[in-house]
Amino acid sequence: MLELPESQVMADQLNRTIKGKTIKSVTANQSPHKFTFYFGDPQKYDSLLSGRQVGEAYALAGQVEIALGDARLLFTDGANIRYLKEGEKPPVKHQFYSEFTDGTALVTTVQMYGGIHVFLEGQNDNPYYLVAKEKPTPYMEEFNRAYFETLYESVKQNISVKAFLATEQRIPGLGNGVLQDILFHAGIHPKVKIENIDETKRDILFKSLKKTLLEMKEKGGRDTEKNLFGVYGGYQTYLSKKTLEEPCPKCGGWISRQAYLGGNIYFCPKCQPLDGR
Ligand SMILES: [Zn+2]
Repeated sequence: MLELPESQVMADQLNRTIKGKTIKSVTANQSPHKFTFYFGDPQKYDSLLSGRQVGEAYALAGQVEIALGDARLLFTDGANIRYLKEGEKPPVKHQFYSEFTDGTALVTTVQMYGGIHVFLEGQNDNPYYLVAKEKPTPYMEEFNRAYFETLYESVKQNISVKAFLATEQRIPGLGNGVLQDILFHAGIHPKVKIENIDETKRDILFKSLKKTLLEMKEKGGRDTEKNLFGVYGGYQTYLSKKTLEEPCPKCGGWISRQAYLGGNIYFCPKCQPLDGR
């Protein structure tokens, strides 16, 4: 799943790899997939994009958008985007395939769910897209301690810190994946009610959020996610499905896993006490 760091890395790799190329042809929805969401009719993507030159790619929270003149190609967080060198074969099943005039290509597959949107600038009124464009992300300076406090004050105080940080698009692109290490470094259990996180702890949480996301981006994304070239990122996750069997990096104890609010949470019961203290 693309989250904040991976979409930044993906946009950067797209800019270095396909920017300036010209699209020869596009095949969309070649292998229909129930949970792949297209904007408009995917059969029209070829005529909308063929002949256009690839412009700048940029990260929009957990999404990646590519400009092609006044057309836009948007991949949402569940889309796996891969670059194919000349002669490299695409997977048998795919949801989007774009060949460039130099023989290279971009192929996208969706595993669980994801969106592939082709549209003309200004046409896309998808609420997730609009929120992702509008709200500051933790990579921006305006996402500062004061902004974080306004977010904190805008919600009911009895919700959990996971609900606060990773639901309702409050911080677009901050999903269940990156959440685990942010909370681990802050020493906060994902189920702690935010009313039990005092100001000192909120300072620590804010710093962990900024620092962890920055480190994930600088190291090329998390080691649980693949980049444009199909390679896992260089950021080694502290808490993820990859590390469940390993001892807690801080105290050496057992790591716990629980299903909670749409996704597994991982935590050390000792280093991240449930009472928030
Ligand atoms: Zn521990």
